[in-house]
Amino acid sequence: MLSICIGIITLAGAVEYSPKVAEIADEVNTDSVVWVIASLSGDKPVTIGGEPDSLPTRFAYSPDCYQAALWIAEQLEAHGFGVEVEPFNPTLITAGSLPLGWDSWEELETSYRTNLEAGISKAPDPMWNVVATLPGQDSQQVILCAHYDATSEPENRYTYTPGADDNASGVATVLEAARVMAQYDWEHTLRFVLFGGEEIGLLGSKAYAEEAVERGDEILAVFNIDMIGWDSNDDAVMDIHTDPTNQASQDLGYEIAEVMNIYDYNIDPEVLIHESTDRSDHASFWAYDIPAILLIEDWDDFTPFYHTTNDKLSTLNKPYMIEGIKSAVAWAATRAVYHEEPVDADESLVNDDSPRIKLSSQIATDQIWLEVRAPYPVTPVIYDAAGRSVARLTPTSGTSRLSVDVSSLPVGVYWVGIGGGEIFVSSRFVVVR
Ligand SMILES: [Zn+2]
Repeated sequence: MLSICIGIITLAGAVEYSPKVAEIADEVNTDSVVWVIASLSGDKPVTIGGEPDSLPTRFAYSPDCYQAALWIAEQLEAHGFGVEVEPFNPTLITAGSLPLGWDSWEELETSYRTNLEAGISKAPDPMWNVVATLPGQDSQQVILCAHYDATSEPENRYTYTPGADDNASGVATVLEAARVMAQYDWEHTLRFVLFGGEEIGLLGSKAYAEEAVERGDEILAVFNIDMIGWDSNDDAVMDIHTDPTNQASQDLGYEIAEVMNIYDYNIDPEVLIHESTDRSDHASFWAYDIPAILLIEDWDDFTPFYHTTNDKLSTLNKPYMIEGIKSAVAWAATRAVYHEEPVDADESLVNDDSPRIKLSSQIATDQIWLEVRAPYPVTPVIYDAAGRSVARLTPTSGTSRLSVDVSSLPVGVYWVGIGGGEIFVSSRFVVVR
């Protein structure tokens, strides 16, 4: 396959390096990403609606796929988003590109009908897209998206589709970007969208794009992530597929490659134009000439476990995937335009000697660092989601860096806070395992 290396191309309107964007993208956390993939791929139990559950299959015709949508929605809600779980009708499509994983339209249709009659399939009940919005200063949208449904061998689809690479890696990218970016203000509106029904014909994204066009959504760019976890030769090549008939999509592809280079992520981007694939959700936006691209692992070094029960977390190249996720966050932060927080009118009242705290991460498994700056002795206290004090740390004053052991805390949301005088400051973190 012919590819174009972006490294040597100079473009007009070049992306400018921003230390703030670099700082924001560096908040991408490996533990957080791995936890999402382990949860989605059935490697570990999950909690949905407060009940213990697990997600062994995300095959679109399986009722369990809805559980995956609910779980994803809960994660976005935990990051502070209002989330829509939007139904769409999975009409069987027998035109256009044959969905990956099927040998013929006849095979797809037979499977669909058989499962419908056997009551195995929930179709034609709705399938679901999960949509979270981070409103910006204006309503122009920057979209990060990935499909959450999965597939495996025909005999296993209704019981086990780990789909760690395809496409828990993409879902984890979108959820991690949402977690990180939710803490900041943006000029443009960010949308984090997880599509259902991709493996059976891009159904969720087709429904979404059609409705978005009908609504008159002003979409600046769509960044679709589908399979960024496999790199067996550590050459760090990732492919960016652009619309061969749309210059804006091609510009978008080069812009993303430039972000990867400028921020020095360990990714070797290859922008594809004439050899690009239309077999993922970006193509549903191409149909309306909306600038969209696909980020995917190197076609020449592709997971051998594609659409099998062996597509597991343990097979993924995590450092490669994390660099891809940082790239997606850095691009989204560039495109949505970081907005300095408005200066609080009361800011002048806050003495520079006010106590401050900063956590090394908002996600913790065993240990987390807490930076404290306080002009007088303070005792940092950890509170659980109900506001109960669950741990008191060593009293400190001046500027210090404390190691906080969270290994005995149950999974959940916590705050660490310091008080003294009239001021109380706190910071939120989540314990995951
Ligand atoms: Zn996929």
